[in-house]
Amino acid sequence: KVVCVTGASGFIASWLVKLLLQRGYTVRASVRDPADPKKTQHLRALEGATERLLLFKANLLEEGSFDAVVEGCDGVFHTASPFYHAVTNPQAELIEPAVKGTLNVLASCKKSSVKKVVVTSSMAAVAYNSKPRTPDVVVDETWFSSPEVCEQQKQWYVLSKTLAEEAAWKFSKENGIDIVTINPGMVTGPLLQSTLNTSSAAILNLINGSSTFPNATFGWVNVQDVALAHVLAFELPSASGRYCLVERVVHYSELLKIIHELYPSFQLPDKCADDKPFGPVYQVSKEKFKSLGLDYIPLETSIKETIESLKEKNFIS
Ligand code: NDP
Repeated sequence: KVVCVTGASGFIASWLVKLLLQRGYTVRASVRDPADPKKTQHLRALEGATERLLLFKANLLEEGSFDAVVEGCDGVFHTASPFYHAVTNPQAELIEPAVKGTLNVLASCKKSSVKKVVVTSSMAAVAYNSKPRTPDVVVDETWFSSPEVCEQQKQWYVLSKTLAEEAAWKFSKENGIDIVTINPGMVTGPLLQSTLNTSSAAILNLINGSSTFPNATFGWVNVQDVALAHVLAFELPSASGRYCLVERVVHYSELLKIIHELYPSFQLPDKCADDKPFGPVYQVSKEKFKSLGLDYIPLETSIKETIESLKEKNFIS
């Protein structure tokens, strides 16, 4: 079978390409710059890549850019979307590539009669609304983030993912394209790529000399679980709708305790970045993830894998 992965050089997508090649798929992969070895070397080195990996150039902001890469594909995994927080123009840097990019990819899929599209959404598109999140609350796939709440809180990345998923479901309904969304929390685990992605940087920042830790509570999940969930959501005919992917929700203070247990010699920040009360934890339903026949890698293992990988790649001296 032939499948396409958009944004193939990224943290999650690299694992996805690796798994797909392992399972015998031919992978047509889009990157922004196929000539940049920093973005493609690790992909070309994957087992099966010489025979079955084809790289294409495509940009989310260019209409028709994905026509060639999705052509003839049985399935498409749309992962490409900007994920970073230091933006000066949220509309141009985050929202447009996320929303227009998703619609461009889906329009190309429609032209090529692609049967199934797995869209990498996020818990960002699930949990940010006016409903309270407390330890007894179970967030599940029926939750949707509110664009108004995201805007009020100036959570531009969260808004970009919320609007992109909304646009994807609308396109799917209007055009009869079968889509499934994967909605991971913050993703951890080993890096295959040589560049640093935002969620791995969140861990690195805690151990690379920062004097404070963020006052934030997030759900966390291992990149290998995320990649496998994408593949199974495509392969299983019964897979449908959204899949929240979170092994555990923790505040940064709790994450630091885990890191300290694993690496007692690390100098870790002991002060919170603000003096507001810590955001409470909440639960995230594991039912849909388990319906794929999967079990989560525990957070402790994921954190250890992240740090070992950051060391190996010389991000930690
Ligand atoms: P990365 O930053 O590693 O990957 C993002 C990818 O998007 C890169 O391949 C990048 O391409 C591509 N991209 C960005 N802008 C454009 C553009 N204008 N045109 C084409 N491609 C573009 O991040 P992740 O692997 O973490 O994220 C992948 C997906 O997963 C995203 O949709 C993200 O929102 C989602 N996600 C991530 C989570 C996490 O914690 N990591 C959590 C939940 C969801 P290039 O290599 O050319 O820069």
